[in-house]
Amino acid sequence: RAKAEGRNQCKFYAPVMNESVQHRYSIESRLRNALEHGEFLLHYQPQMDLRSGAVIGIEALLRWNSSEEGLVAPDRFISIAEETGLIIPIGAWVIAQACKDNKSLQQAGVPKLPVSVNLSARQLTPSSLIAAVEAALHAARLLPTFLKLELTETAIMSRPEEAHGIFLRLNEFGVKFAADDFGTGYSSLSYLQRFPMGQVKIDKSFIQDVAHNSNDAAIAQAIISLGHSLGMTVIAEGVSSPEQVEFLRARSCDAIQGYYYSKPLPLAELQAFLMPDCQ
Ligand code: C2E
Ligand code: MG
Ligand code: MG
Ligand code: MG
Repeated sequence: RAKAEGRNQCKFYAPVMNESVQHRYSIESRLRNALEHGEFLLHYQPQMDLRSGAVIGIEALLRWNSSEEGLVAPDRFISIAEETGLIIPIGAWVIAQACKDNKSLQQAGVPKLPVSVNLSARQLTPSSLIAAVEAALHAARLLPTFLKLELTETAIMSRPEEAHGIFLRLNEFGVKFAADDFGTGYSSLSYLQRFPMGQVKIDKSFIQDVAHNSNDAAIAQAIISLGHSLGMTVIAEGVSSPEQVEFLRARSCDAIQGYYYSKPLPLAELQAFLMPDCQ
């Protein structure tokens, strides 16, 4: 009887399991290959100060230039990279490349700006992350103050002790931090106090209808006040219309990032964007 049950279970589950294991394995091996063959690249989205109109920073956003599919956005592969642990070597590559690219912008004569890099929870292992950051800064000869690490509330809360150790060490070293996608996770006030980050980023889901939806408007307003009262600068993500810009400016939001100002750009286009006189 047990044998029959076992066989039935086997019949029922085996094809499904094999398929998903195989699917994961194939993406995992393609990602591993992509890293080895240099198929990853970074695009950079500039951030604009709402008072002066000046650029205040750039965010590195990972892309996969796949030979089969062309340019692949991170939403399609980051979660598999996280599940398989590949995000650790891929993330180390991102940190190193962002530092190198930022140094090359400085050498081209672009006004010096911090580059923001996104981190996954899986990367919050103090020894390996601190080593990766220090190696990247050293190899690029970039000052730590021109690197900013973006952490979501969810990532911090999944490894609070590790995140805190990393924060203290790198903060002391001069690296900056930003709270990414703020408002979508736990939005814990105690963590904002425990991690005195310089910048909080209002998630784009609240910005989309901010000029017409009173709930979104109230949340955006609350995050701006909270950030300011904790001494942080507040930046709104996903800003794409003049109405959104007016709303945010009227409520003293410090900066914006979004299609209104610029899409994420390849390095050469970013350099042209930042140095219009040299074109
Ligand atoms: P994020 O860090 O919140 O990045 C902002 C996302 O909003 C980017 O999507 C950007 O292209 C998009 N965006 C910018 N302006 C607008 C706009 O006006 N409207 C709309 N609808 N979208 C806008 P992207 O590049 O597809 O990245 C998605 C997410 O993938 C990022 O969200 C981040 O969580 C993750 N990610 C990207 N690069 C990396 C990386 O190097 N490492 C890790 N761990 N995660 C990354
Ligand atoms: Mg981000
Ligand atoms: Mg974000
Ligand atoms: Mg996000």
